[in-house]
Amino acid sequence: MRAIRRTDTKPEVALRHALHQMGYRYRKDYRLDLDGGKRVRPDIAFTSRKVAVFIDGCFWHSCPDHGSKPRVNEFYWAPKLLRTVERDRAADAALIIAGWKVVRLWEHVPLDDAVAAVLAALGGGAATASGQQGTPGTPPGTPGA
Ligand SMILES: [Zn+2]
Repeated sequence: MRAIRRTDTKPEVALRHALHQMGYRYRKDYRLDLDGGKRVRPDIAFTSRKVAVFIDGCFWHSCPDHGSKPRVNEFYWAPKLLRTVERDRAADAALIIAGWKVVRLWEHVPLDDAVAAVLAALGGGAATASGQQGTPGTPPGTPGA
């Protein structure tokens, strides 16, 4: 039997802790009301930079490596899991339309990689290759010529 723990899963706590130690400030389980009445609750939200981070459980979100379909009661689980994935995609789309950057991490991702992915989305450090989303407004602190 699987215990269902919804809040503060370990990888999430570790990531939050690491980001906090690096001086980043964020909201946890912050509910966003997007256009069209869509409500999304990222695990970690950087509201000023509009970066939403989700740490997806391998089972619930059907990770390609660990999200093997339960054999028992498959008729019960399959639609549930499918719905979760569909909800994820709909949330991503709504966030992107609203000008957010979405970072989705599987819970099995090593902490260092998770931190790197979040920092890249935040546009800090040397990450310049990704994140050209054409968001309105220019980030503050850009060195001008
Ligand atoms: Zn996994």
